[in-house]
Amino acid sequence: MNKTLILVVEDDRSVQNLMITTLKTHDYRYLTAMNGEEAILEASSHNPDIILLDLGLPDMDGIEVIRKIRTWSNVPIIVISARSEDMDKVDALDAGADDYLTKPFSVEELLARLRVTERRLAAGPGEQTSSSVFVNGKLRIEYSAGCAYLEDEELHLTPIEYKLLCLLSKNVGKVLTHT
Ligand code: CA
Repeated sequence: MNKTLILVVEDDRSVQNLMITTLKTHDYRYLTAMNGEEAILEASSHNPDIILLDLGLPDMDGIEVIRKIRTWSNVPIIVISARSEDMDKVDALDAGADDYLTKPFSVEELLARLRVTERRLAAGPGEQTSSSVFVNGKLRIEYSAGCAYLEDEELHLTPIEYKLLCLLSKNVGKVLTHT
């Protein structure tokens, strides 16, 4: 059974549905985000294995999303762009995207890109593991388990509190905006 967790970032419902249906029928696990803010929050709190990222998002440029995620994570990002956004695609690769798909794409093409990325993940050194636990003083966060501890005692956080803690922990020393 395929346990790869995919974060699907796409504001176009029909494209999102196509991707989700494809992932479901091929036993992938998935998360969804409709905009950039959600994408960053989901990526920081759930540590997906692969991110499928639409470049044309309602709240911010997809390239901005890549830059933000790249400040703490090497997660493979596959950019999805319309043909008219060809220059954006180049910028996206420069910003740290790993691969791209051009709309409209076929289901087979999507699956092929995912397989290539998975092979790369399997072959690479376990660079994900170093970032799966965060320790700062008495605070410890185990991202993969979704648990946080203070002096080895588990913290009981609401999902929003946990997401905020993850986001803050991945931006140590930085000032974050309210949103
Ligand atoms: Ca879009």
